[in-house]
Amino acid sequence: MPVVADVTGGNGHVVEDAELQALREAARLSPDNLPLRRHLARQFLAKGYLAEAEAEFRAALALAPGDPDITAGLAEAFVRQSAHGAALAVLEPLLATPGYPPRLGVLAARALLGEGDAEGAAHRYHEAVARDPSLADAELAARLAPPPAAETVPPPAYLVPDPPGGGHTSAEVERSGLTFADVAGMEAVKEALRMKLLLPVRQPELFAAFGKRAGGGVLLYGPPGAGKTHLARAAAGELGASFVNVGLADILDMYIGSSERNLRATFDLARRHRPCVLFFDEVDALAARRSDMRHGHSRRLVNQFLAELDGVDQNANEGVLVLAATNAPWYVDVAFRRPGRLDSPVFVPPPDAAARAAILRILCRDKPLAEMDFDAVARVTEQFVGADLKGVVDRAVEAKLQESIRAGRPVPLSTPDLLAAAKTVRPTAVREWMATARNYVMHANESGAWDELLPWIQRKW
Ligand code: ADP
Repeated sequence: MPVVADVTGGNGHVVEDAELQALREAARLSPDNLPLRRHLARQFLAKGYLAEAEAEFRAALALAPGDPDITAGLAEAFVRQSAHGAALAVLEPLLATPGYPPRLGVLAARALLGEGDAEGAAHRYHEAVARDPSLADAELAARLAPPPAAETVPPPAYLVPDPPGGGHTSAEVERSGLTFADVAGMEAVKEALRMKLLLPVRQPELFAAFGKRAGGGVLLYGPPGAGKTHLARAAAGELGASFVNVGLADILDMYIGSSERNLRATFDLARRHRPCVLFFDEVDALAARRSDMRHGHSRRLVNQFLAELDGVDQNANEGVLVLAATNAPWYVDVAFRRPGRLDSPVFVPPPDAAARAAILRILCRDKPLAEMDFDAVARVTEQFVGADLKGVVDRAVEAKLQESIRAGRPVPLSTPDLLAAAKTVRPTAVREWMATARNYVMHANESGAWDELLPWIQRKW
């Protein structure tokens, strides 16, 4: 096969495949395009470019942490490079979750065998094949110990269920690479978070002198897609803290009846990784369930949440900052807003024109660009929130990508591309959200909790 260009895979390896080259160029232009990266990684693996496959799977995993398919690909790339320890390190977190894909068990078996642990490998392999017989691999099986006789051999530790009281969390600990510099606009919101979260941790003596403790939490609320999750992640990066992102609906759904223990396990995970920002999305899910849950189950969960927020002792939550987000703050139990809990609601507003231009600038900064007039795009994207703007940029990049592949070279993104893409994206729910908010603020604002919204809902949307 002819050498198309001297593109090396970081290891001096020349990739001699035009299709792979084009895909790789496409992925470079669109680094956040997960399906593209996954496809490229699989192609590298299938064609035996193992180091390149490893790099691409890693990049894909950064976009979709915990994805079993990508994890399997990365593990396979490791195993085929005889990096057995690295393969086990990526597989282990998934193997520890109940019901993991059996395919991962076979990969773990190959890695364990590579490390000389024939017995552990046999356990993994036989368990996986028992769950999915199509995974049987005669060549691998021949190198393993025979299957254990069920009555005489105790089950391996990983098959023993958690002891009662254990609790389970599917949440993962992230290291956030974002800081407030990656959050456009929202100056007032950032200032509020700095005051509430960052200063107490950075200058504990000062806060202690005023009788305040670090810890506690903030309730972020606002229309969907306005950047609450993005902001929470940036707060973690700003602090140099770990970041744990939890969808409360996941905790509720995981195992009926174990939700309280799962919640405790999630808080404990954050406590083991302090300083940590523990982010709960959809906190209103707690309240929404209240009406349809009998046996006081939901009440118990609310109480458990409050108990965890309060902490069993003074220091339980030292260095754990709880950020909770909701699109429907009016459904959140008032008990959450007591002092020391999520006592300060902070409104995350839809971006104004200057903020939209700044968001666009951030979203485009790693792309090949012509001279850009982001203000012009901001002017035609009234009512667009951050998530909508991301949609616009993704769409424009997608179109550019096809053009670049046709042209055989990167064609830079330009203002007309963004303007054209903006026409095809419909802004999400800001107008409806404001209408709902208006209703609540007019009819249920006795305590003044939503005063911050007044100037916003009085505007025309
Ligand atoms: P929410 O949690 O409020 O529903 P997200 O935080 O998920 O919204 O925002 C969606 C996406 O929009 C983010 O991943 C980010 O790329 C982008 N975004 C939103 N707000 C901003 C902002 N202020 N600056 C930069 N990007 C933003």
